[in-house]
This record gives sequence, structure tokens and C-alpha cells, in this order.
Amino acid sequence: MTPVLRIAVQKKGRLATGSLKLLEQAGLGISPNPGALTCRARGLPFELLFVRDDDIPSLVAKGVCDLGIAGENVLREEALENAQDGKLQTVRALGFSHCTLKLAAPKEGTIKTLADLQGCKIATSYPQILAKYLQDQGIKAQCVTLKGAVEIAPALGLSDAICDLVSSGATLAANGLADFATVMQSEALLVRNDTSWDEAREALLARLLRRIDGVIASRATKYIMLNAPKDALDEITALLPGADAPTIMPLAGRDDQMAVHAVCRETIFWDTLEQLEARGAHAILVLPIEKMMG
Ligand code: ATP
Ligand code: ZN
Repeated sequence: MTPVLRIAVQKKGRLATGSLKLLEQAGLGISPNPGALTCRARGLPFELLFVRDDDIPSLVAKGVCDLGIAGENVLREEALENAQDGKLQTVRALGFSHCTLKLAAPKEGTIKTLADLQGCKIATSYPQILAKYLQDQGIKAQCVTLKGAVEIAPALGLSDAICDLVSSGATLAANGLADFATVMQSEALLVRNDTSWDEAREALLARLLRRIDGVIASRATKYIMLNAPKDALDEITALLPGADAPTIMPLAGRDDQMAVHAVCRETIFWDTLEQLEARGAHAILVLPIEKMMG
């Protein structure tokens, strides 16, 4: 019988959209009914379980799900807290839901550096990560655990500083806080449990990973097409960022021009297009790549 691998994903929140999009791009074929807690994929034998992100590490560690997509921050907090649960292995860093766990304090206050935290109260949703960080830094401070709205703790007199997730920094600024140290960087990870799987399950995971790698590789990759004067070909191809050997073809009826096509594995900025144009390139097209393999 074909095995079905079960993946735990966040039901709603900052990981949910990226997780579903990635799995959809990998061809799982998912159309969850609104409110449904599970969804069977049409494209490959996978089942999705929609849960709160905090539950994902233990669902995978306990074997309820085979795989999970969660933030590195949540995975590390859970690993420190429940060391007795089964271990999780990271199979891929997925490159979305980037954020940073930072220490911050009121802008107008006296806490400006790590050393100023000695003897202070720090509010956080990540008490384990914070405690370990403070220990490594040789700082004795008290953690106040809050599930949410951590940024408001100093204004309420609950703490002197906070340790919270930051992406743009706008929330910190809006609450009169300034960050002064980075505790950890985080992104979404695909994890599995470390129990041994039969060959069919391993093969199914390998198939998913090949597709995920293709999706991740295609994100920054573009296909560029342009026409270039023959005498500027070397200069123009040298400008193409992260390009494989370009395909160079004659243009019908134009002896002085060639068509250049290339796969660029790095971002193509407007600056680059301007430089290409300045060297005589024209009819420049930059196309997204949907899928890549091989
Ligand atoms: P749930 O209801 O599933 O428990 P939540 O409120 O705990 O959701 P979200 O705010 O949706 O969680 O964040 C989920 C994850 O998204 C975080 O643990 C983190 O890894 C990531 N993330 C990315 N950017 C941010 C951000 N600016 N603030 C908070 N989390 C972020
Ligand atoms: Zn959560």
C-alpha cells in the first residue's frame, strides 16, 4: 500500500501562507475546505494537518505527524523545554517567515546594552531561549513569560526590557522601544522525526524534497533574453548576474546583432538592466521561472 505522509502546518498566521504556497508549488494539490483541520493532497500522497504553530514540534516529535513546517524559534524553544520528546531533524531551511529574536528596551530609558540587563526583568514568549542566551552571556536577569503583546510589558511596568520577534522593527518603534542585541535569527524549517521510516516513506520524502529544492532554486532565478550588438557581446554577457553559459543565436536579417538568452541565478536589479542598455543591449526581457529540475 502506498504510504501517506502527514505534514503539520500552521492553520492561520505568519507561517501559514508561505507553507501552503510552497507545498502547492511542489505540486501537492491542496484545496482545504474552510475550517477543515485536515486536507488530503491530490497530487502526491500527503495529508496536511492544520494546527497552531506551537503544537507542531511535539506533534512531529511524538510521531502524530511525519513532517512539520515551523519557525526555528518555536522549534528551539520546544527542544529546550521538552528535551524528553523525540528528537527532530531539520530537513530543509525553507527561506520564508524570516524574523529575528531581539532584546529591546524603552528608547528613553537606561538600558542600552546587554550589560545593562544585569538584575532586570525581561518579558518574552521564549523563556527557554532567553534563559540560555543570558546564561551564555553571563547575565543574571529575571524572565517574565507572556504569550503575546510582549511589547507592551515595559509600559505596563511588568518588565524593564523585552525579548521578542522582530521583522521590520515597526512594532518596536510604535511602542517606543529600541533593540540593542540579537538573540537568534529564524526562518521556517521543514522538520521530521528521527524514527526510522520504511523505504517507501523515505522515497516519498525524497521526492518532495527534490521538488522543494526546485521551488527554492527557482525563486531567485530568472530567464533573461536580450538582443546585443556583436561587438559588445563579451561585455554584455559578463554583466549577467549568476548566469550559466548563455545561449547566443543569430538574429534573422541583422548581421550586427545577436540574441542572448541566459538563466540568471541571482537577482537582476534595475541597475544591471540600465548597464546592459548602456552597452547597447535592447529588447531586454526578464522572465520568472516557475519550476526547475536537473
Ligand atoms: P498560532 O495561532 O499558530 O499560535 P502565533 O500567533 O503564535 O500563531 P504568528 O504570529 O503567526 O504566530 O507567527 C508564527 C511564526 O512566524 C513565528 O513563530 C515566527 O517564526 C514567524 N514570524 C515571521 N515574522 C514574524 C514577526 N514579525 N513576528 C512574529 N513572528 C514572525
Ligand atoms: Zn503560536
